[in-house]
Amino acid sequence: MLFLSADCIIPIEGQACFNSVLVVEDDGTIEGIYTKNELTGPLYEIIHYNGILCPGFVNTHCHLELSWAKGLFSEGEGLDYFIWQLGKFRKSVSEAYNRKAIEKAASEMIQSGIVATADIANGDHTLDLKSKNTHYFHTFIEVFGSDPSSVDAIFEKAAQLKAGFNNQSLAASIVPHATYSLSDELFRLIAKSGKGELLTIHHQENEDENRFYKDGRGPVSARRKAFNPDIPAYSGTGKRPMESIATYFDPDQKMLLVHNTVSQQEDIDFVQGYFSQPYWCLCPNANLFIEKQLPDIDLFRRNNCQITIGTDSLASNHTLSILEEIKTIQKYFPHISLLELLKWSTLKGAEFLGVENKLGSFEKGKKPGVVLIENIDLKTLQLKPETTSRLIIPANL
Ligand SMILES: [Zn+2]
Repeated sequence: MLFLSADCIIPIEGQACFNSVLVVEDDGTIEGIYTKNELTGPLYEIIHYNGILCPGFVNTHCHLELSWAKGLFSEGEGLDYFIWQLGKFRKSVSEAYNRKAIEKAASEMIQSGIVATADIANGDHTLDLKSKNTHYFHTFIEVFGSDPSSVDAIFEKAAQLKAGFNNQSLAASIVPHATYSLSDELFRLIAKSGKGELLTIHHQENEDENRFYKDGRGPVSARRKAFNPDIPAYSGTGKRPMESIATYFDPDQKMLLVHNTVSQQEDIDFVQGYFSQPYWCLCPNANLFIEKQLPDIDLFRRNNCQITIGTDSLASNHTLSILEEIKTIQKYFPHISLLELLKWSTLKGAEFLGVENKLGSFEKGKKPGVVLIENIDLKTLQLKPETTSRLIIPANL
């Protein structure tokens, strides 16, 4: 049994605890949080930390397989430039370099306090790492393709990849890349095959996506034509992106929309009305990196949206750290409390992944891992540039 005290313990469910002790069994199971007066009886050895203790973080959007791209891209060039560059660079990466980069990124991510990750995959580059690691991964096999004639080949490849992950007892589901990058037939096939499974989609990372659905024009349309010169031109739906594609999917499937940088009230109204369990994933550092723009986070709060946090990939971020994402949100939205931000970073992500009975809060019986956050302003609970986080007790699923 371990007895851990800190300046502040944030259990996520319930208030922040001061002058308290977190009691954890040797296998990581939370026994409870007690005041020092309540711990009577034999002399306990209490280990004290300066800072905050909170449960392990859940990263709901990552692309570990893009870890090779760390430091390659210049910032603020926009999504269109980013997508073209990614395609060019991808061809020149060796398998060995890729593997090493994935291992290093995963190891740093775990050390920084992340205990579960929803990770996008286009290939099997991360399979080996995930099959050997105790970290909880849900792999989203991402598909895209606007040409209806290639639907069967694309889907077959995705189904084989999914089977490869499932055969190693790893959770996986097949998901659409973005609202604008799939043919109707491919959307239908994903929806039909993945009933009841977790879904995610890149959503409204910039205005190009809204434009594409409005009238079929703009950079998305140009990319579609360049990748598929033989398919007919598209004239849009005149509707917003999710309204244009959501009805392929069962409204009761969990749907995680990622980025939402230019989402507005009408987008939120549609998604919240159509899906019974929508989640909104924020990746602020990637948004600043690519588009120099952030979502209207207060709009999601006013609408009582279920918010989670993601790091995106090292192609568009300097580090895979949930703490660094929280720092950025606190910098631009200082009125949002650390307690609320930590809830998005832990319990909300665990709920989306369906592992909230084990992870996400210091509730008795869970094994969520313990993170130590150091160098913070304890009076205001504001993070500082020098604030750090590290996992001191691993999660155990
Ligand atoms: Zn992404």
